[in-house]
Amino acid sequence: MLALYGTGVSSGIYIGNTYVLNRQRPEVPEYTLLKEHIEDEVKRFEEAISESRAQLRAIRDHIPANAPTETASLIDTHLLILDDNMLAKAPIAMIREEKCNAEMALKTQSEHLMAMFEQIDDPYIRSRKTDVNQVVEGILRNLLGMQDIGHDEIKAGNIVVADDLTPADTVMLKHKRVRAFVTDLGGPISHTAILARSLGIPAIVSVHNATGFVRNNEEIIVDGKRGSIIIGADEPTISEYRKRQRRIAQLRKELESLRKSRSVTQDGQKIILQANIELPPDVKAAIKSSASGIGLYRTEFLFMNRDEPPSEEEQYRSYAKVVRTMEGKPVTIRTLDLGADKQVDGGSHRTPVTVNPALGLRAVRLCLHDPGLFKPQLRAILRVSAIGRVRMMIPMISSMDELSRVLDLIAEVKTELKRQGEHFNPKIPVGGMIEVPAAAIAADLFAPLLDFLSIGTNDLIQYTLAIDRVDDAVNYLYDPLHPSVLRLIAMTIKAGQAEGIPVAMCGEMAGDPRYTRLLLGLGLTEFSMHPATLLDVKKIVRDSDVSVLKRIAGKVLRMRDIHELHAKVDQLNEPFI
Ligand code: PEP
Ligand code: MG
Repeated sequence: MLALYGTGVSSGIYIGNTYVLNRQRPEVPEYTLLKEHIEDEVKRFEEAISESRAQLRAIRDHIPANAPTETASLIDTHLLILDDNMLAKAPIAMIREEKCNAEMALKTQSEHLMAMFEQIDDPYIRSRKTDVNQVVEGILRNLLGMQDIGHDEIKAGNIVVADDLTPADTVMLKHKRVRAFVTDLGGPISHTAILARSLGIPAIVSVHNATGFVRNNEEIIVDGKRGSIIIGADEPTISEYRKRQRRIAQLRKELESLRKSRSVTQDGQKIILQANIELPPDVKAAIKSSASGIGLYRTEFLFMNRDEPPSEEEQYRSYAKVVRTMEGKPVTIRTLDLGADKQVDGGSHRTPVTVNPALGLRAVRLCLHDPGLFKPQLRAILRVSAIGRVRMMIPMISSMDELSRVLDLIAEVKTELKRQGEHFNPKIPVGGMIEVPAAAIAADLFAPLLDFLSIGTNDLIQYTLAIDRVDDAVNYLYDPLHPSVLRLIAMTIKAGQAEGIPVAMCGEMAGDPRYTRLLLGLGLTEFSMHPATLLDVKKIVRDSDVSVLKRIAGKVLRMRDIHELHAKVDQLNEPFI
């Protein structure tokens, strides 16, 4: 019996037979052309490109209606790459000038492009390298007349094990009713991960050399929550996992019945469970999950993939749509968090590429640097506060001076709106995200200036543990239970309590049921998360006794051995997970 570990990016357990995709890049032949064959070779290359285009379009046309919206846009990205001159035209010039065969020209040009990507500091753009590679591979297969990756042999119910998967593959796998997948590469924000989460099948990425250990048509266990696969499991292990599978299925059924139940602990504490959204249509899922409000509206998505930032009016309309649909429930609109991995694509406010973009001009720093960008948003948020329960939240606060400048600017915008006769809530609550260690350590200084705090664990963990969120090479260091992270969370909660202001958490940790009980024990009363996990968290809340958890959380905070600490938190969750 052998267990391999990676990063679980979509939870659930599945036991089934594997289909190992061998996506090794094909061997590239190299030869020199006779002059009279050059134009035929150019034609062959153009045909391979057309074939790739037709293949991608066919996939896009067959995207199921319930597939995540990202699916189509990822395939569109591949189509754009395919039509880029750097890929579609440069190899043709090379075939003509150097008289080399099409495969060789494509390979040389792709190596050239990869070298260019290496020079780019922006991790988002760098991450596009994978897409370019996938497109190149598709063209190469067409040139060599190779079948695509053997999808036809994949059977419904298979677990696909691959070195990496393209978005196009992932859509195909959905059609084939694949029930889980495991890849050698990728990180939690890779395309594969994003799609797997939305498709709702267990998935694990970054299991280095899974394709080396797993054979075709072999029964394995995939545990998406733990991020583990078990090869050659014995009977007791399989029956243990089947038992867990049944427990999960039962839990799912029970969860549906919780939609109308209150979010109250056994000892009567009301716990606020809210949803994170990126765009107005996400509100539907939030309402369906019984969220009592929106705890994080990531407005930066409205600013992406366009040349000009949205006007104040457009922003107002978007925010108003969310506020109206929430029908009186609170909506926390976060001001722009652009920069680092979240760059606008080619917009006029694109930040220059810096050496450490995550430590650069991001979020509130970028906004203060560019009031022309920030003020229309502040106006739109303030105006929308006249029509519902709107809260404003500032990301990435790291210094008192910065916070004062934001508050001054808000006051200035209020005066301006008043003068213009615009309506707004003069007492709109303004909160700060605690996601930089400096803000957590000095949360007691920030709290008196704010109406609420919200802990952004994604960044808090990134900055505390010095691990780039988008770099899969340091994924293994990601640990929300790191004592330093736990201490910062506990300090922030305490600072809020001392000041008498609410403290929420809106990072991924808040929506991960593994941490719910510990966070309740640490005194957290507001959680905001992806709507998909809200009912899981609600179930745990309703089965918890905060007074008991407080004692245990106190012990966890004092633990020195990280393994014991993890074991203790697992133990807390035993009845549920
Ligand atoms: C966070 O950092 O935890 C957070 C919620 O914000 P984002 O993921 O958008 O950076
Ligand atoms: Mg953040």
